[in-house]
Amino acid sequence: MKTDILIIGGGPAGIVAAVTARKSHPTKKVTLIRKEEKAVIPCGIPYIFCRLNSVEQNLMSDQPLLDNGVDLVIGEAEEIKPKEKQVILKNRGFFDYDKLILALGSAPQLIPIPGIEKEGVWLVKKDYEYLKKIKGAVLESKNIVIIGGGFIGVEFAEELSSIKNLDIAIVEKLEHCLITNFDEEFAIVAEEKLKNKGIKIFVNKAVKEIGGKEKVEYVVLDNGEKLLADLIILSIGARPNIDLAQKAGIKTEEKGGIIVDEYLKTNLPDIFAIGDCVQTKDYITGKNISIMLASVAATEARIAANNLYQIELIRENKGTIGVFSTFIDGLALGRAGLTEKRANEIGIDYLIGEAEAPNRHPASLPNMGKIKVKLIFAKSSENLLLGGEVMGPESIGEMLNILSLAIQQKTSLFDFNTWQIATHPLLTSAPTVYPIIAAAQNAMIKIKK
Ligand SMILES: Cc1cc2nc3c(=O)[nH]c(=O)nc-3n(C[C@H](O)[C@H](O)[C@H](O)COP(=O)(O)OP(=O)(O)OC[C@H]3O[C@@H](n4cnc5c(N)ncnc54)[C@H](O)[C@@H]3O)c2cc1C
Repeated sequence: MKTDILIIGGGPAGIVAAVTARKSHPTKKVTLIRKEEKAVIPCGIPYIFCRLNSVEQNLMSDQPLLDNGVDLVIGEAEEIKPKEKQVILKNRGFFDYDKLILALGSAPQLIPIPGIEKEGVWLVKKDYEYLKKIKGAVLESKNIVIIGGGFIGVEFAEELSSIKNLDIAIVEKLEHCLITNFDEEFAIVAEEKLKNKGIKIFVNKAVKEIGGKEKVEYVVLDNGEKLLADLIILSIGARPNIDLAQKAGIKTEEKGGIIVDEYLKTNLPDIFAIGDCVQTKDYITGKNISIMLASVAATEARIAANNLYQIELIRENKGTIGVFSTFIDGLALGRAGLTEKRANEIGIDYLIGEAEAPNRHPASLPNMGKIKVKLIFAKSSENLLLGGEVMGPESIGEMLNILSLAIQQKTSLFDFNTWQIATHPLLTSAPTVYPIIAAAQNAMIKIKK
């Protein structure tokens, strides 16, 4: 079989690449191959237990592919022949391609804890049938231990805490849950929220053994403490799926993803790679970082698909800003760019600006919530925005996206002083205390001092 643009992978990266390719190159035939008959929405997985009634409600619709005339093939690509420009499918023949986009995604990371093979240990897989089974198993459990307090572990814990008579514990080897995502003061508030939901948190601790006969019964921590567990969720990160690419001679980082240039091209002609399978580079430092997000995958997909045949108006990938948000028991938290902790690690000279304000005005309005903003600016002549953290009510989700654009557009501390904003009593903070502007002013005072 022959196609013009072949995409391997039907996650967020593959879907966005396919739809963008059809829109940007309407005369080209676009084919997407993915392994699974039914694809799930990865970011919705934590919510299959309570907020969504069933795993079916978290299925990714194929409609955008069908509406845009993308040919969808369910199958597994088992070999790429770059010289022949051909992809071999397991039991399904082959495809000749003109341009190939690899959107192979990632799989959950494993750690060699004794007992990890026992029944009752679950991974966070993007797999419909597996998720149906884990949901059934969770609903029959009494004590769940979540290994890993990153955003996926925390989102699982928070969702599961709504199930009655279920004891939930998170074991995190670092000093706080979410500490790789946020500065300490934000991580502490998030942990308090989790504790208020009855979740037990064990930080600075690692699981050294999973015990039980055939089925898991308990875990032993490295301080000797024993926690009852009839179900374990392992959420310690993900590793890029790179085997297929490596076998074809595509270069990868030693312990990372596929190496691509700023247009997402690999080292082989006419082969691009996007999404979780790709090695990301930090927007600020240009160094390798491990950030795997659906939003990053979608951005890379748009850049690659637009630039397949020639460099188009869509600009190059200048690195990953790392903007994401999460939601714990009514509190939204998010980050764009650098945290203060990370700035210290990489040795950047910085200025901090902080502010807090009600999300409505006057603050006596019903359902008022406080928004806390922390901004980090370079301590250089231009004082560019390097990062921001925000927590508060749901609406802060979009504030993070504004901060991300501000970082991308090289906004300086002083630009915020002349920033024109809309405010409304029921929708935003008051113009007099708008927290992003107030945080920038707070940083400006420090320069003047
Ligand atoms: C529980 C959870 C919650 C998350 N929440 C968020 C969130 O809130 N926000 C956010 O931005 N990100 C979130 N993420 C991260 C996000 O899901 C990933 O970054 C995103 O799925 C990456 O998309 P992708 O298309 O690159 O890869 P994947 O989603 O992993 O998709 C890879 C695709 O490639 C296919 N494939 C691989 N190899 C082959 C082959 N040989 N042949 C055929 N098909 C193949 C797979 O079957 C799959 O369809 C979350 C992840 C998880 C697990």
